[in-house]
Amino acid sequence: MTTQASYPIGTPGHPWGAAEVADWLSRQTRRRSYADDVLGMIEALRARFDVVQYGELDYPSGRYPLFALKSRDWRDELPIALVTGGVHGYETSGVHGALQFLDRHASAYAGRINLIVAPCVSPWAYEMIQRWNPDAVDPNRSFRDDSPARESAALMRLVAPFRDRVLVHVDLHETTDSDESEFRPALAARDGVAYVPDAVPDGFYTVDDSVHPQPGFQQAIIDAVAKVTHIAPADADGQIIGSPVLAPGVIAYPVKELGLCAGITDATYKTTTEVYPDSPRATAEQCNAAQVAAVCAAIDFALAHGAGASA
Ligand SMILES: [Zn+2]
Repeated sequence: MTTQASYPIGTPGHPWGAAEVADWLSRQTRRRSYADDVLGMIEALRARFDVVQYGELDYPSGRYPLFALKSRDWRDELPIALVTGGVHGYETSGVHGALQFLDRHASAYAGRINLIVAPCVSPWAYEMIQRWNPDAVDPNRSFRDDSPARESAALMRLVAPFRDRVLVHVDLHETTDSDESEFRPALAARDGVAYVPDAVPDGFYTVDDSVHPQPGFQQAIIDAVAKVTHIAPADADGQIIGSPVLAPGVIAYPVKELGLCAGITDATYKTTTEVYPDSPRATAEQCNAAQVAAVCAAIDFALAHGAGASA
């Protein structure tokens, strides 16, 4: 049972202003290294992929270069698979799952589909184990024109030249216990609204695009991940985090309307993965493997069915 303790910053019922955001920022501490954990891996992959720097975030705590990795044998006549990780920096398996996919599986797709992978979209938040950027803005509600998040704007600029040719996009996320203990209470406090506790589902699930659903595609991902880790059950109301379960482990949002990363292209196939790393039944290695299984299943399905498939 989650207690409805008030968040330590701000006044209940009043949205944060600059002073509260500054207070929040002053409490963030660097807990791991983007350079050591991520840039080192990218350097190691440079021998096999084209590495593109698509921006740099300049924050008081440091500068964070933004990188994407592309198929070395990129061919304009092939469709494109886009993989994004670390849009929420604290969601560790998204970052490391994307890197592991490149290291262990990307070569299998050479000559069949062009790959572009942005493994850590929000590196400051990776280091702080945070959901927001330093402005207390959630990048994954900010994929829209005139984005308030530099992380989101940079990724949109990267994708813009080829966004109409993306066949499949997999955005790698986690749902964590800290969503309920910290991030949802912080969100309610920031916006000056009441925090309504919810349950954290134990297991993997995906988020489809409710405007352009692809149930067969989502099912293929669920089937592949189920071989690696367990799928989240629906709660007593038939829901996962407040949304109706459409098929085992699948919910849907209007991804573009919400400014979610999954809405950054009009790809036929798009999904947001949600791994649960705090499960007593899942190791960190399993979480990475679940992300990799999701990416491979998504690309395999897209290649098998092409752009013409419909729900
Ligand atoms: Zn997330």
